[in-house]
Amino acid sequence: MSFVRIAVSGVLRTWDGAERTGVNAAYVRALLCAGGIPLILSPLMGASLAASALDGCDGLLLTGGEDIEPSWYGAEPSPFLSPPSQDRDLFELALFAVARQRDLPILGICRGIQLINVALGGTLYQDLPSDRPDSVDHSPAGARDARSHPIRLQPGSRVAAALDATEITVNSVHHQAVENLAPGLIATGWTGDGLIEAAESESGASWILAVQWHPEEMYADSRAPEHGLFSALVTEAGLAGRSSVGRGRKEDTIAHAVERTP
Ligand code: MN
Repeated sequence: MSFVRIAVSGVLRTWDGAERTGVNAAYVRALLCAGGIPLILSPLMGASLAASALDGCDGLLLTGGEDIEPSWYGAEPSPFLSPPSQDRDLFELALFAVARQRDLPILGICRGIQLINVALGGTLYQDLPSDRPDSVDHSPAGARDARSHPIRLQPGSRVAAALDATEITVNSVHHQAVENLAPGLIATGWTGDGLIEAAESESGASWILAVQWHPEEMYADSRAPEHGLFSALVTEAGLAGRSSVGRGRKEDTIAHAVERTP
């Protein structure tokens, strides 16, 4: 039996007086529930090691965290911007670029959807309460796994298929969000007033699925539809591994055919 290895982008934080690097355990637990092998990649590696770090990985999970430096999308920092991490931006932009080059499937969560959108040329709301006041509280007080606002999903989309739903009430722990969606992405999930909460790549392009909420926090509920998002990534990563073998064989066949051509 072969296992599917999923690279998980990590964070660097100081707590209890010590510098630590890793991820929220919920990401690791959710991937384990889906049958994947989570490999945590520390941003301390830096962008220059991103390609080597992804060797042997079958998929990429871009996780939540810091606000993205607004200069990446041509904006001045809002007074409400939370401190960005240039090292993490650079590392994850490099991971994303390498993963796309290798046609690895990519799941983006919270900051992950924002990073993917910025990497592909989109822009962000830097602070929803000041940039886009509306009736939805995207950062309510309470537990991280508390479902707080409804979204609707595009029927037939990857996200709707993965969740087996076209409406779902999600947890919400964010103050930034996609503003202008990048070329190459399709919006597939929205709040009632049209804020983008899910996006994906076009069919035929490298597989990307990204959500603004935190599906990993639902890992403990075995019946939560969110498990479907991690299963979709692991399944796609397994297929990608097999199809790259298939591609190799096809190239061999073409090479032999060329040799035989008079
Ligand atoms: Mn939200």
